[in-house]
Amino acid sequence: MNIIVVLAITIPLLFALVFWLELKRVAADKQRIREKVLSHGWEYYSSSWEQLPGQSNTLFRSSLIGPGFYSVCYRNSDGDMVSQVCETSPSLGVYWSDKDEDTVILKQAHQDCKKCEGKVKPNWKFCPFCGTENQQETS
Ligand SMILES: [Zn+2]
Repeated sequence: MNIIVVLAITIPLLFALVFWLELKRVAADKQRIREKVLSHGWEYYSSSWEQLPGQSNTLFRSSLIGPGFYSVCYRNSDGDMVSQVCETSPSLGVYWSDKDEDTVILKQAHQDCKKCEGKVKPNWKFCPFCGTENQQETS
């Protein structure tokens, strides 16, 4: 068989294989990030693969071998919506990137306790000051 024909078949197959591994890596990363968020007791919303400044534009190189960067969105124990960069690496696992501090994108508003008028977050079942049960707002 002609060498050109062999290359014409194998090269696209190799690209397809790398791309397939790439998709698998991202899916596995997202699952691990989700588990990490849940392990903190937070509510997981989303994660998306992120291109950081200075990082190579090559999708293959940066996320198949090197660390992957994900912009993760979750609701923390205070009820705030937070966006934070998470790094994944095949050797080190999942960890929060210290390059970027977490950014609160939506601060949970306080409401007044109906008994003592202390500031209570809506996701707190009981007022920390007087112990009165808060009415849960369903919106
Ligand atoms: Zn109270």
